[in-house]
Amino acid sequence: MDVFVSMSFRLRVEVEALNMVEAMGAYSRHRTVSLLKPRGEGGYRLIIAPAVSGQAVAYGYMKSLVELATKKNLPICDQCINYEVRGGFLKHGTEEKAELENLVKNCIVEDVTGFMVPEANIRRTSPVQFSYMIPDVDSSDVAIEPQFHARTPMPGQKPQPFQVEAGTAIYVLGVAIDVDKIGVIPTAEGKPKSVDGNRVERVKTAIQAIANLIEGLSFGAKKARYLPIYDVVGAIAAISHPVQFMVSPARIGRDENYISKTLARALNYLQLFKEVNEEIHVLYMDREGIAKDVKAEGINIVRVETVSQLISKTIDIVERKI
Ligand SMILES: [Zn+2]
Repeated sequence: MDVFVSMSFRLRVEVEALNMVEAMGAYSRHRTVSLLKPRGEGGYRLIIAPAVSGQAVAYGYMKSLVELATKKNLPICDQCINYEVRGGFLKHGTEEKAELENLVKNCIVEDVTGFMVPEANIRRTSPVQFSYMIPDVDSSDVAIEPQFHARTPMPGQKPQPFQVEAGTAIYVLGVAIDVDKIGVIPTAEGKPKSVDGNRVERVKTAIQAIANLIEGLSFGAKKARYLPIYDVVGAIAAISHPVQFMVSPARIGRDENYISKTLARALNYLQLFKEVNEEIHVLYMDREGIAKDVKAEGINIVRVETVSQLISKTIDIVERKI
């Protein structure tokens, strides 16, 4: 127990419209966020950049969970199986008689991604958490470009022009997994209660679904004509026990990168939590050739070549701890 996983991915994405706002109209705007870009001379400059919301990513993750759970015969509720016809994941949000234990026990989506039922006064914090997908403005520039389109006219009408903003950037996405909370509910006595004899399978599936999310590109909208040109160029994962540790965001700056930064922080962290025998495993994938001389005494470091390897090795380490 007391196992925590964190990950950060570097995604090279060109011409994407994965998270549009104001979708109806002559101009579909891309979602944007404000970011701080380091100035060469010190300090920061505020820039507006394209982004994909954590909710959009989480929605793709829930789709991946449904897919895997169905294939593996894991508990999943009717509402989640039918999310497409129901227009999303309702998670029993309006049921007055909903019970926490039942919702978690009967469905891996509710278990792993949390819910809130105000009428029944119950809620669950999501054991798996996602950041916004934001550009790495330290290492590259970003672009949001309006692309001109025309709707096919009805007979006797003129073509209807409209524009869609497409984004291009190296995006960074963060994921955190509180392994101890999966398949478990809190109790009044303080000792968490397991709701499923097959908890390990739930944990494995929750981590596998991240591979499906990233490699299978299960997130994002508007893909019929804006399927992004997409490549995973780097990633890092850390498994920590018993105190939780987060990897550094997968950014590359002028003087440092996310791999060396994560390792340097992990070393200090081990020192700080020596008396509780803190343990950190670090896995990384580097297609940009930034990792040089990667070593850190006391930390198990594994280099991988693909996201699938990163996920399967993470599962191996986690399984040994739970
Ligand atoms: Zn469900």
